[in-house]
Amino acid sequence: MTNIYKTIKLKRGKEESLKRFHPWVFSGAIDFLPEDIEEGDTVKVVSSTGDLLGMGHYQIGSIAVRMLSTVDEAIDGDFYATRLRNAWALRTCLGLTVNPENAFRLVHGEGDFLPGLVVDVYGDTAVMQAHSPGMHFARNIIADALTTLADGRIKNVYYKSETTLPYKASLDPQNQYIKGGFTTDIAIENGLKFRVDWLRGQKTGFFVDQRDNRSLLEHYSNGRNVLNMFCYTGGFSVYAMRGNARKVVSVDSSEKAIRLTEANIELNFPGDTRHEAAAEDAFKYLSSISKGDFDLIVLDPPAFAKHRSAIKNALRGYQRLNAKALEKIASGGIIFTFSCSQAITREQFRLAVFSACAQTGRKVRILHQLTQPADHPVNIYHPEGEYLKGLILYVE
Ligand code: SAH
Repeated sequence: MTNIYKTIKLKRGKEESLKRFHPWVFSGAIDFLPEDIEEGDTVKVVSSTGDLLGMGHYQIGSIAVRMLSTVDEAIDGDFYATRLRNAWALRTCLGLTVNPENAFRLVHGEGDFLPGLVVDVYGDTAVMQAHSPGMHFARNIIADALTTLADGRIKNVYYKSETTLPYKASLDPQNQYIKGGFTTDIAIENGLKFRVDWLRGQKTGFFVDQRDNRSLLEHYSNGRNVLNMFCYTGGFSVYAMRGNARKVVSVDSSEKAIRLTEANIELNFPGDTRHEAAAEDAFKYLSSISKGDFDLIVLDPPAFAKHRSAIKNALRGYQRLNAKALEKIASGGIIFTFSCSQAITREQFRLAVFSACAQTGRKVRILHQLTQPADHPVNIYHPEGEYLKGLILYVE
């Protein structure tokens, strides 16, 4: 029995979702909060009748507790080490740990039973993001546990939570190495090399979640004129090059992204003149091209809806963007279209794409329905963990 933790008691009937293993307690479900509770505390959660429901991290906000365990146990170094070993075992099962230089997601929050924590691995460096105060306070013991995995393969842990922690918690986290320091920034994905800038890049520096979809793009690229819209580090572009595309144009509104893309193309295909890049707004660029210039277009925009309140506008945005690409793509063309907005459902996204198709009158068929890769697993009790959706369209 662990008696060191404060106890949160739920209102009557509010234990039901926890009994179905959903990992969140909403603030409205709480009957009793200890007076001395502080944000980030590890707590015990009990039902109105005092039955133990599990252990979790407390925070102020609509999600008040993120559950870590359904039994009475210590949430300490051994706890994190066990969870991380399980996460590693899954990535080994997926074949991702075979090459020590690989890029992959090791911890996907609730999907790895560690709500509030994201860890991406780039060779011997782990980039760690805390989304909850509890994970912020546990960062050092988590970093210790990370460096014990697979005989110490991870040498460096970069903690990057300045933009992921709740602002109101005033934790003032510093982005910094908490283990080791810089070794190399080149990581491998499906045998291709990518320079990953976790110091200055978005999120952890690279979007590992498009790995499988990039492989599919490689498969479709042969002889095609490819437009990679919202290219960021040029992931899709590098795969299209290997897939023998005739021409690849990468577009992003950020100059920095364009430089990253060009560096990654050069790293894999030095001196190859099939690639061009443009720092341009997506809508402007799509308006400027002629119908038929491209027969493969990738649309992988940033999340248009970060919150529920933005869903309507976001859906209009997806419709407008897809309609532009549909107007311009050659006959027999292929569109890879994505939404990474967690607030938008698969059905809503498909409806937005349907509306775009209907608006342009093109004859369109769905070839594949895409999602996030297996190193971003969805905890079946937490459907909210499914966020990436995509469609591959064949346009006549
Ligand atoms: N496809 C990328 C990830 C895209 S992230 C990959 O596989 O890694 C989204 C990118 O969209 C960012 O790089 C951002 O700079 C860019 N972006 C945001 N708004 C844009 C706009 N209006 N036009 C073009 N690019 C935009």
